[in-house]
Amino acid sequence: MNETDARKILCDACSKLYLKDLLVSAGGNVSIRTDDGFLITPSGRNKGSLFPEDMVKMSMAGKVVGKGKPSIEYKFHLSLYNLRTDTNAIVHCHPIYCTALAVKSEKLRTDLTPEGVILLGDVPMVPYCTPGSDDLVREIERTYRSSAAILENHGAVTQGKTMEEACNRMEELEFQAHLNLVVGNVEGLSKEEVSRLRRM
Ligand SMILES: [Zn+2]
Repeated sequence: MNETDARKILCDACSKLYLKDLLVSAGGNVSIRTDDGFLITPSGRNKGSLFPEDMVKMSMAGKVVGKGKPSIEYKFHLSLYNLRTDTNAIVHCHPIYCTALAVKSEKLRTDLTPEGVILLGDVPMVPYCTPGSDDLVREIERTYRSSAAILENHGAVTQGKTMEEACNRMEELEFQAHLNLVVGNVEGLSKEEVSRLRRM
């Protein structure tokens, strides 16, 4: 995707995620792959008031191209883009219900409704590591095949072929986290139904 379109799509995604209360104040970071690298949200800025030109351009070698200070988490975005050639957008935020499960170290169940199975699949819990650290990058790399993950005592991350898919997954992840907390320990869909849904 060309840089001009990517800047606009990234900016629109931040506004939508902010208005849905999935991105809160300056927390979280969002990125999109471009023809020659990727664009990521700038460090320490409120995601509800960004402009396309605020997004920071980075090379696939992890260097800033042009101006701006990238989010401290740019390293795991870079790593996921290198590991997943089919991933073109990544969303990381700290939505309240995902973060509630994250601080309880409680694995998210996605077998309660069909959407959870189809859109998210298995959602691993990434062990706690300091934000921006190489340890966090290594732990996230271990779950790179998952479309969504919960980061222990921290938040959540989703990826997708498009920005819309990555955002849908974050919205669904937060819905499923809320559902998990509301219903408590209940019986989910049968193993047979989960297998059938996974084949769809
Ligand atoms: Zn974070």
